[in-house]
Amino acid sequence: MDSARGETPLETKLKALIRREGPIGVDAYMRACLHDPEHGYYRRRLAIGAAGDFITAPEISQVFGELIGLWCAVVWQQMGAPARVNLVELGPGRGTLMRDALRAARIVPGFHGALAVHLVESNAALRAIQEETLAGTGTPLHFHTDADALSSAEHLPAAPTLIVANEFLDALPIAQLEFAGGDWRTRTVALGAGDGGLCFAADMTTRATPATQPTDRAAREGDILETCPAHDALAALLAARARHGPLAALLIDYGHAATGYGDTLQGVAGQAHVSPFHAPGETDLSAQVDFRHFAAACASAGLAVDGPLPQAELLGRLGIVERASRLMAANPARAAEIEAGVGRLLAPSGMGSRFQALGVRNENVAALPGFER
Ligand code: SAH
Repeated sequence: MDSARGETPLETKLKALIRREGPIGVDAYMRACLHDPEHGYYRRRLAIGAAGDFITAPEISQVFGELIGLWCAVVWQQMGAPARVNLVELGPGRGTLMRDALRAARIVPGFHGALAVHLVESNAALRAIQEETLAGTGTPLHFHTDADALSSAEHLPAAPTLIVANEFLDALPIAQLEFAGGDWRTRTVALGAGDGGLCFAADMTTRATPATQPTDRAAREGDILETCPAHDALAALLAARARHGPLAALLIDYGHAATGYGDTLQGVAGQAHVSPFHAPGETDLSAQVDFRHFAAACASAGLAVDGPLPQAELLGRLGIVERASRLMAANPARAAEIEAGVGRLLAPSGMGSRFQALGVRNENVAALPGFER
């Protein structure tokens, strides 16, 4: 932060851009805040974990990654235990989920021998941490900077593929529309008339057409609709991967199961919610995932979807209570900590219901574990 002007370097850069070229879309703003090559949050900051800006399920409890590891091994068995399988994680953070998953899945004979682990991570500093976290697992690691790798048989061998992603979808840039002056308009980031600070403004010069709209009521002045073109792009990449062999993906994120009106773009710094304009480039930005839309995009790309289910329900069906009890019995000194962690993952008014899990697979792969009806 430049304390003289109270501005981050990215804020200075974006203000100059807006002064020169006019307001920018919310998607461009979010992309710059997260991925600007010099000042983007995910390019520089190591923000995940108890001491960071935000804490995620695998950082809260080892049981989370362990259950996902067992889920992967069971899906592999359901696929007929193929000799080669790609295990891909999108946005692996500190590598904690993958470490816990690989450890737990050791009990399934043959699974480790079949595995090639692929990590899709845009942040170089996090890639180094993932390498360190996973050094002891004895599994060869392949790194990719972009989810585009999913579509190519050159980057990811043509083989059955398991994909896991926790809090990846919420980090992909959203665009927003605002209902203003009786029509939908692109919502932009502009400079305020008074202090010249960053602010939201509807672009009144053009009309925009929303791709999907909530069905519960007609739009009212000031309503916001969000779209995430990157989610459509990811659905297409999953479909492209599914053409190289059987595919099963598990995506967990905070979000809603129905498309609604509302602004969900939020900043998080020091484990507290802040304005999206707070210290641009030094604040994490994310948005709630519209699971209904993402599931529909996967379905129209030719994939089958299971769920979404609330996180608590999926983890319950995968046996989180039994696993936590066994772990507590084996580690009495850590029992309270284990119980508290699992409690947070399942909390009905917290992560247990705010997070949703979605399964995505080829039509000819059986319904995924935890999602069977
Ligand atoms: N899954 C981890 C981290 C979640 S944070 C956990 O649960 O703890 C989001 C992760 O996605 C980070 O690792 C971030 O660097 C990565 N990421 C964000 N946008 C990305 C993109 N477009 N391509 C690849 N990785 C991305």
